[in-house]
Amino acid sequence: MSRSVRTRPGASGRALSEAYDTALLDLDGVVYAGGSAIVHAVESLAAAREGGMHLAYVTNNALRTPDTVAAHLTELGIPADAGDVITSAQAVARLIGDQVPQGSRVLVVGGEGLRAALRERGLVPVESADDDPVAVVQGYGGPELPWGRFAEASYAVARGVPWFASNTDLTIPSGRGIAPGNGAAVEVVRIATGAEPQVAGKPLPPMHRETILRTGAERPLVVGDRLDTDIEGAFNGGVDSLLVLTGVTDGVRLLAAPPRHRPTYVDADLRGMLTGQPEVVAAGGGFRCGGWTATAGAGALELDGDGTAMDGLRALCAAAWTAAGDGVCELDGSKALARLGL
Ligand SMILES: [Mg+2]
Repeated sequence: MSRSVRTRPGASGRALSEAYDTALLDLDGVVYAGGSAIVHAVESLAAAREGGMHLAYVTNNALRTPDTVAAHLTELGIPADAGDVITSAQAVARLIGDQVPQGSRVLVVGGEGLRAALRERGLVPVESADDDPVAVVQGYGGPELPWGRFAEASYAVARGVPWFASNTDLTIPSGRGIAPGNGAAVEVVRIATGAEPQVAGKPLPPMHRETILRTGAERPLVVGDRLDTDIEGAFNGGVDSLLVLTGVTDGVRLLAAPPRHRPTYVDADLRGMLTGQPEVVAAGGGFRCGGWTATAGAGALELDGDGTAMDGLRALCAAAWTAAGDGVCELDGSKALARLGL
C-alpha cells in the first residue's frame, strides 16, 4: 500500500482492462447521468467484460436496492446482476451489524435500499424513536422523505443511541439540477443533536472494505468522476484509480488536486479502460506526454507542442502536481487548458 506523493499520471503498457482484474465503477457521471448512459459507456464496458475483466458498480446512493440498480443498468444495455452492485447501504449495514447483536432494531431514515441491507445483516428496521432502536441510520431517502423522519432520528440520537450514516455527500445530481444529498440530511440531525455519526460511504474505509469483500477483487481499479469520493476512496484503500472527465471533475480541479485526490490515470471517458496509458517523462525542465510539453512558469502553467487533449492534460498534471508537491498547485492552468479545449 504505497501512499507516496503522486506527482504525475501513471503509465500502463497494457490495456487497463487487462492489467486489473476488477473495475470498481462509480455510477453517476461515469456509467450514466440521470436516466441515460454516458457516451461510450455501453460499448466500452461490454468490451472490457468480453476481455475477462470483472465489472462491479459501487455507489454511495443508499436509496435503491442492488436489484433495482442492476435492472436499470441492464435496461441501459449494461447487463448486471444484483451481486455486481455494491451500495453504501450495504457498507453501513455491515458497520452497524459489527457493533450490535443480531435481531437488533435500527431506526431508519432513508429508503428501501437501506431497509433491505439491514435485513440482509439480520437487523430489524423500525420507524419511530419509541420503537426502542439500538442504532439510528440515515441514508438518502429521496424527495418524498417526510421532515418528521429527522425528528425521530433526533429524538433517539439525543438519548445517546449510536448514529450511523450511509454517506455524507452534501449534494446529489438529478435530471433537473443539484438536489440536497444525504450529507445535507445528516446536517439536519447534527444541528438538532450536536452528535457525530459513524459514516460508511466513499471515501471512507468501510465502503472500500465492503467492495473488496463482495467482489473478491485482487487487483482492482477504481473508476470514478469525483476526486473527493472515488479517487480519495481509492487512495485511502491503497488501490489504483482512473478518473474520467464525463462527470463533475474538470481540468482546473484536477490540476489543483492535493495528493489524496490525484488519480493514477486520467482519460476522457470509459474508452480509457480499453487502452494502455502513455508515459509522462521529465523533459527540458518540464514534462512531456505525446507531443505536448508542460512547464511551471511564473504564475501559470505553460504548454507547448501539439497532440491529443488527454496527453496535454497528463503533461499539465505532472507539471502542476510536481510544483505543488504535497500541497495544492496555485499556478493558473486556464490558458493551457483552453488550448486543449478543456
Ligand atoms: Mg459519480
